[in-house]
Amino acid sequence: MKKFAIVIHGGSGAISDVALYQESLGRVIEEVSKLAKEGESALNLVTKAVVLLENDPLYNAGRGSVLNTEGFVECDASIMNGINIEAGAVAGVSGIKNPVLLARKVMEKSSHVMLIGKGAEGFALDNGIETESLEYFVTEARKKQLEQAKESDNITLDHNEVTEKKLGTVGAVAIDSDGNIAAATSTGGLVNKKFGRVGDSPIIGAGVYAENELCGVSATGYGEQFIRTTLAKHMAEWMRYHEGSAQAGAEEGINFLVKKVNGLGGVILVDSDYKIGVAHSTPMILAASKTWDTEMKLYC
Ligand code: ASP
Repeated sequence: MKKFAIVIHGGSGAISDVALYQESLGRVIEEVSKLAKEGESALNLVTKAVVLLENDPLYNAGRGSVLNTEGFVECDASIMNGINIEAGAVAGVSGIKNPVLLARKVMEKSSHVMLIGKGAEGFALDNGIETESLEYFVTEARKKQLEQAKESDNITLDHNEVTEKKLGTVGAVAIDSDGNIAAATSTGGLVNKKFGRVGDSPIIGAGVYAENELCGVSATGYGEQFIRTTLAKHMAEWMRYHEGSAQAGAEEGINFLVKKVNGLGGVILVDSDYKIGVAHSTPMILAASKTWDTEMKLYC
């Protein structure tokens, strides 16, 4: 069997109906692990995992994303290749079925790292990226959630206790048999966010990072706090200068987030030793992992 490690998340927060997520996360990790065992690249593994999570309306990414204050979905996504620290990202895109595929296209087919809004959507059309009607993305649960957020004048994590549905941003980090690391993150952002608001998920070094010698990271939580702390890069740099384990790296990230900005969220990390770290300052994180020599593990 080929060596690999993969960890995925579906957001962090206060979540009561966990069984649904356990089932979904377990299914995704098993499906992606099959590819990993066959020697699929880390980049393809994180892409596949995030596509599966984006397609599941349970999560705040792709279909089922939270609604902005105008009542429609605007997605952010990113991907990073640890081999050469190449990255691609999109922000504020609507109508893109799988924003992570567009982020990957930006990385591979443009000379840029990030495209936003209409420009990104035009690039998607030119490059054969699948689109959907705006209605495809909107679920009844999200409409209700936005109404509740507006009533209480809140801009919230989709999995905040204030809202009825507790769902989440998605991400994946993997290392493959060649020792290559990749990471990807995808989100609809915050419930009732301002039209045009961009979170941490598409910001390289904030909501995502990957560098083969160090680790890969994907984050979830209040994006503004992760941008201000450049959290994913902070964790990678900590791994560079400390002998600590992957778990110690994830905990350092969350400790730093809490210490600096009293931040709320969760992180997943894979290091170059095929070790996994998961940490959160929220009551819970929706996450699952599997490595070539261990069984599937649920963190929720
Ligand atoms: N980090 C995302 C954002 O701020 C939200 C989340 O993780 O649920 O856009």
